[in-house]
Amino acid sequence: MDTRVADDPSERRRSAIVERVETLYCDLEFGAVREWKTKHPGARAIGYMPVYVPREIIHAAGMLPVGVLGGDLEIVKGDACFQSYICHIPRSTIELGMNGALDCLDGMIFPSICDVIRNLSGMWQILFPGKYVRYFDVPQNFSDAIGGEFYERELRGFIADLEGLSGGKVSDDALRRSIGLYNENRRRVEAMYALRAERPWVVPSSELYLIMRAGALLDVEAHSALLDEYLDAARASRRPPLDMARVALRGTFCEQPPYELVRTLERSGCYIVDDDWMMVQRWYKSDVDTAGDPVKALVGAFLHRSPACPSIYLAEGEKGAELVQCARDVKAEGVLFAAPSFCDPALLDQPMTQAAVARAGLPHTSFLYSESTGQFQVIREQAGTFADSIKLS
Ligand code: SF4
Repeated sequence: MDTRVADDPSERRRSAIVERVETLYCDLEFGAVREWKTKHPGARAIGYMPVYVPREIIHAAGMLPVGVLGGDLEIVKGDACFQSYICHIPRSTIELGMNGALDCLDGMIFPSICDVIRNLSGMWQILFPGKYVRYFDVPQNFSDAIGGEFYERELRGFIADLEGLSGGKVSDDALRRSIGLYNENRRRVEAMYALRAERPWVVPSSELYLIMRAGALLDVEAHSALLDEYLDAARASRRPPLDMARVALRGTFCEQPPYELVRTLERSGCYIVDDDWMMVQRWYKSDVDTAGDPVKALVGAFLHRSPACPSIYLAEGEKGAELVQCARDVKAEGVLFAAPSFCDPALLDQPMTQAAVARAGLPHTSFLYSESTGQFQVIREQAGTFADSIKLS
C-alpha cells in the first residue's frame, strides 16, 4: 500500500471489503449461496448464465438469483461435452455442475446469447434431469407489438415456472418491491462507475470488478449494503492520481476476464474508466417503473432501455455508436477490445465497433483471453505499449 495512504482509516475499511469480495470470487464451491440457503430454510437458489436475466422475477419468487460465471478450474468432464477449442465458460460450467459445486442450485436459466449457451441448456437437461432448466429467450425485435408481446409471454411463462417450483404465487406487489430493490442496487452500481470515471485512482478497476462479481452471489440487499460501504470508503480516499491512460474496455460481457487480467491491465498503465463485464447488473439504462403492471414494466425496460451488447440486435450502422458516446462521456482516451477466445458474438461485433471507434478518432487495440488465462506478460506488454502511445501522443 502507498505509504501516503497507509494510515488512512478509509483504506483499512476498503482493505477489509476487498478481502471479503476476493474470498467470494475465489470460492468455486458457492459457499455464500449455501450460507444463504441455511439462513432461509426451504428457499431456493436459481443459477443464471450471462448476460441478462430479469433477476427481479427470481427475487420476487422468494429465491436467490445466482450468477454462474464458470471459473478457472481444471476441465476434465467439460471437454467431453464441447470442443476443447471453443470459449471456456460452457466447459467450466459443466465442470462445476459435474463436480457438485452447483448442487446448491435448484435450477438453471440459460439466456439466449449464442449457440453455445443454447446447446448448454439442452445438455443441462440431459445431465441433471431432476433440476429445473429454462432456456430464456429474449426478443430481437424491439417493437412493443411484436417483440414486446413475445417477451411478455416469455416472462409470464417464467413466472409460472417459478410458482410451480415454489408452490407460491408471485404477486404484483412482490414483483414491484423486487424491481425497486434492483433499481436501488443499479443506482449504487452506477454511482460506483461514475466515481471511477471521475477519479479512477480511488476506485481501481480490480476492486470494482470484485465488487461486481460479489453481486452474482449475494442477495441484492446485501450487495447494495456492500456497495454503500465501498462507496463511503472510496469517496473518503486520499489516494493520489497516477499518470495512466484512460481506456474503455469492451468484449467481456459473457465469459468474464480473470481477476489477474484486470490487475494486469492496471499494472500496464491503463485506468479502465468503463467496461462491459457483469452487464446484468447495469442492464437497464434507467429505473424500471415501479407503478402499474410490473411485468409490462420489465418488458418496456428491456425493449427500450437495454444497452448495446453483442447479444442484442443492432443494425450495422448503429454498431459502436453507444460505445463512442460512452467513451466521450467517461473521457476515455482509447478503447481496449478484449474477447474470449472463439466467442462468436464478440468477434463478429468487433470489426463494426472498431470501425466506429476509428471513425471517432479513438485509438484502439485488441486481444483475446480466456477465464483460465494464466500468462499475462504478452497482454501486459501490448496494453502497456498502447497506454504509452496514448500518453505520448
Ligand atoms: S463467451 Fe461468447 S461464444 Fe462463449 S458462451 Fe459466451 S457469448 Fe457464447
